[in-house]
Amino acid sequence: MNELLGRRRLTDACKMLYDRNLTVSAGGNMSVRLGDDLFLITPSGRNKGLLCPEDAVLINSKGKPLSDGKPSIEHKFHLALYAANPGTTSVIHCHPLHCIALTVSGRKMQCGLTPEGVMLLGDVPTLGYFTPGSKELVEAVRAHSSHGAMLLERHGAITQGRDLEEAFNRMEELEFQARLQLLVGDAEDLPEKEIAKLRKM
Ligand SMILES: [Zn+2]
Repeated sequence: MNELLGRRRLTDACKMLYDRNLTVSAGGNMSVRLGDDLFLITPSGRNKGLLCPEDAVLINSKGKPLSDGKPSIEHKFHLALYAANPGTTSVIHCHPLHCIALTVSGRKMQCGLTPEGVMLLGDVPTLGYFTPGSKELVEAVRAHSSHGAMLLERHGAITQGRDLEEAFNRMEELEFQARLQLLVGDAEDLPEKEIAKLRKM
């Protein structure tokens, strides 16, 4: 993806995440990989519904800004996921209400309630609480880098994808599943055999 297209697509995704209430105010941060050592990430402290393509900050794999603006404070866990997964080209971090509610109530994300949960999300770990922007948060994310989606206790969620659309779909599905789980209370997953079948699809 070239830089101009990357800037446009990243801003479009931010607006969609914001419009769908997947993140509010200045919360969350989103990025795309443009090349081996080149990434675009949302700027620090800005409302995600009001970003323009030129607001995204170009950084290298060490987190050094290569364009105007200050990259998100969380750029280090984005870079950790890109380093761990060469196939990942997009990382999304949001503060979705129902995902956070689930972690505050001490419940784990249950992804076996519907076929989409199984196919898009797989097993979703909940990482403990870590101060935003901390080294400890980066290390915890790195330790769970094989997961396409993860929850952060009392904070939010992170998804990654082979493209921006996959990372977006995972975030949208994660919040849908969290909401479903809070609506139905204790419920059984699909049968083991069906889950195994869906995982192969
Ligand atoms: Zn956050």
